[in-house]
Amino acid sequence: MIEDQAILKERETTVSAVKKGKSTASDSLRLSESTSIWLTLGISERISFTLPAMSDTSFLNNAPDPDLDGKELPAFKFELEKSTGKVIGGSYGKEATVKQLPISKGIAGVSMRLEPGAMRELHWHATAAEWAFVVEGRVRTTVIDPRGNSETNDFDVGDIWYFPRGHGHMLECLGHAPCHFILIFDNGYFSEFGTFSITDWIGHVPKALLAKNFGLPESVFDGFPNEEVYFARLSPPPEAMPSNLRGARRQPPETHKYQMLAQKPHSVHAGGREWRVDSERFPISRTITGVVLDLEPGGLRELHWHPTASEWQYVIYGQVSVTLFGSHGRYRMERLDAGDVGYIPQGYGHSIENIGEGPCRVLIGFNTGHYAATDLSTWMAGNPSDVLATNFGKPESLFRKFPTEPIFIADKNATRKENKP
Ligand code: MN
Ligand code: MN
Repeated sequence: MIEDQAILKERETTVSAVKKGKSTASDSLRLSESTSIWLTLGISERISFTLPAMSDTSFLNNAPDPDLDGKELPAFKFELEKSTGKVIGGSYGKEATVKQLPISKGIAGVSMRLEPGAMRELHWHATAAEWAFVVEGRVRTTVIDPRGNSETNDFDVGDIWYFPRGHGHMLECLGHAPCHFILIFDNGYFSEFGTFSITDWIGHVPKALLAKNFGLPESVFDGFPNEEVYFARLSPPPEAMPSNLRGARRQPPETHKYQMLAQKPHSVHAGGREWRVDSERFPISRTITGVVLDLEPGGLRELHWHPTASEWQYVIYGQVSVTLFGSHGRYRMERLDAGDVGYIPQGYGHSIENIGEGPCRVLIGFNTGHYAATDLSTWMAGNPSDVLATNFGKPESLFRKFPTEPIFIADKNATRKENKP
């Protein structure tokens, strides 16, 4: 780690030297020898400098984050549904990015509602993949991959989709009732309002160029929108799956749809249950893992951390208390109500407890396609009892009372059980 920081510092120095025009070829060479993965960015014909490739996120994670190195932990909660967002007619998109929630550098989220007949128009995202969970109503999507394969899918409540970064897509409300879904993006700097929309693009290209592009008269493009439509509105789409303009479909090798809540939960406890989908079950979802966590009143998702990913939380219903441990005595608790968002930076200790009267449901996204976690009870159970005795300065016999099987979710009676002789 010390080495990495030294390399980072050196990199910063070199990058600033390059920007000032003082860099030499040997600087770049020396740097590129010091780490394994490098991306070369051409600055001019004669000067280039190197940066670590974005794929090596563990390396980047060692860079000090100014939002996380203060004496206190920053806020890790944002009241998403209480924000206004972008509203057109009866449809809206509300977003939580680093702008609204500065700690959430790794993941952004959007709550989107579409009224019947509304469509989130054809667009792509240059800087993020999109994962979504349908909370209410029905949704139809069409997505195209760079090989020209396209897939149209219909989604019900509890279904999820994943669109790789840069793949063109649209989302439309299916049927005569509104739909509501939560979008999760693997980049906290991503903004849903800064995506690449088809009307925005075509509206800025001269008609002569469009005419040549499509082999059509210029007049075809008369009256096309000249700015981004964002939510297009007409009548609800046909119920039967329509065929494409070109006719026959070329299906992609991997589907973009997964029926998450139609499956059995992977983990069931007295205090709650969890559905989890990563790229093992849903292969195309290479950069995002999704979880639905149901907790009974008093249920507790035990203290744990994720070594390889940050965590983004959205409370679908109920109230939870989320705790965050950030080393150096830094500890913070937030109460999240329905519609609120929470964020846990990669590697930070945390827990989620249902503090409401009824059950709660939390939607969770991780910026990894391979879920990993270490739970506190499992960590302790994986150590010799003398280690625990020495570590805490308590007798070894005390630690023999500790659980040896994973807790994962504790129920409201857990404390009473512990106290039984
Ligand atoms: Mn999108
Ligand atoms: Mn977690």
